[in-house]
Amino acid sequence: MPVCPVCGSKEWIKRYKIDAWTIEECSTCGFADIDPMPVRENRADCYSEEKVVERNVKQKSRLQKLSRFLKQAFSKVTKREKQAIFYNKLRRYLLPGSKILDIGCGDGSFISKAKEDYACTGIEISDYLASLARKRPGIKVITGNFLNTDFANEKYDGVTLISILEHLDGPEEAIKKCFDLLSAGGVLLLKTVNYSCLNRLIKKKSWTGFRPPDHVVYFNPSNLEMLLEKTGFGKIKISAMPFNDNMYCEAWRKE
Ligand SMILES: [Zn+2]
Repeated sequence: MPVCPVCGSKEWIKRYKIDAWTIEECSTCGFADIDPMPVRENRADCYSEEKVVERNVKQKSRLQKLSRFLKQAFSKVTKREKQAIFYNKLRRYLLPGSKILDIGCGDGSFISKAKEDYACTGIEISDYLASLARKRPGIKVITGNFLNTDFANEKYDGVTLISILEHLDGPEEAIKKCFDLLSAGGVLLLKTVNYSCLNRLIKKKSWTGFRPPDHVVYFNPSNLEMLLEKTGFGKIKISAMPFNDNMYCEAWRKE
């Protein structure tokens, strides 16, 4: 049995069976992961051009079922979310010219906005998406799995991990790596699915947050805070709403 990366417990509750995977939950802190865990070396295969395009087509067909009004509202919100919400947070906390690392930068849409004020680097596991990001001028793009990438002694004033933590098979390692990459006083901005939201409790295994083998780990606000504290983050702010599938977090590396 694996050891819980948050609290060290070895007691797991098998909660849901979804296709070939079991969602198992730590009986002490409620952290959840999927069993079997995908092999890290094969993770890039999940994000090939075919898989990325297939996911976009599915998303579009889901959207087509909605009314025009909902469609417009939905696409505005999703666009606004990454570009405006996180951009405004950066502007609130960091001076122009600060160095930003966007982990899982996708096609670079967020950093191409953030580069107006900041020196931006993106890292992306998908060759296909990284090639799209690289076409945008003025940003540096690294292709690779964040967990396997050596950043040498590079430091950043801001690290963004937007809808990425749930994809990473080593969450403890990922948060520690974010901490090490931050300069003193730097901020980590994070968005991840919230395992304890009411939507999951109501919809159970049909919850939209469950996407094995893409989504491999699931936090709730309290165990996310525990992990961030354990890693050394000082000030931590987490906001979660009962009917929102996601939670938002800001955590600072102390001066
Ligand atoms: Zn635990």
